[in-house]
Amino acid sequence: MGGTFDPVHYGHLLAAESVKEKLNLDCIFFIPAGNPPHKSYEGMASPIHRYNMVDCAVRPNPSFRISDIEVKREGYSYTIDTVNQLSTILPKGCKAYFVLGADNAGDILRWKDALELIKRIDFLVVTRPGGWENGLKEELNILSNAGCNIDVVEIPMIPITSTEIRDRVKSRRSIRYMVPECVEQYIYENRLYT
Ligand code: ATP
Ligand code: MG
Repeated sequence: MGGTFDPVHYGHLLAAESVKEKLNLDCIFFIPAGNPPHKSYEGMASPIHRYNMVDCAVRPNPSFRISDIEVKREGYSYTIDTVNQLSTILPKGCKAYFVLGADNAGDILRWKDALELIKRIDFLVVTRPGGWENGLKEELNILSNAGCNIDVVEIPMIPITSTEIRDRVKSRRSIRYMVPECVEQYIYENRLYT
């Protein structure tokens, strides 16, 4: 599961747990993006802060892992590079999926080396509140026609976004129960998003 994770929240964690359970997967790797090419805004936390927050959030779950391959890489974080790198590490016979939310599914064909990427890995799209389901069917058709192996996994709808959490911190509103306690503490201790 890739993402900016700025910060990681319970929507990410429940999505990961639900996918893991529904598909009977062994583990979920959270891969915080180092320098995401399609995303930039003022006040983005540094890669190391975003990494540290994911690290403490996934720690209590023995099936969750964190990977530093994107935060360690110089330059932009491209999924094709990540998938190529992961395939050299994964034990033989292991199958990997790239997990992403419904809001990002329509972007895949715009990612770097998309046609190569969709040959190399299968995708799991988790449902997410925000009216994405309307356009999703058509996007899935386009992706399938391009040769992409992609499935939708229905998960409980959690209307939490990192954007809202950053806004809440900025305006001194509560983020309790939206993120794990260790993430909340980390944000305040390091004065993120203020
Ligand atoms: P931002 O508001 O900064 O875009 P975000 O909440 O969308 O943050 P990302 O780091 O962009 O978080 O998300 C990483 C991945 O997790 C994306 O593929 C996204 O679609 C998915 N995701 C994020 N939040 C949820 C959620 N509440 N339910 C399901 N999927 C989610
Ligand atoms: Mg997002």
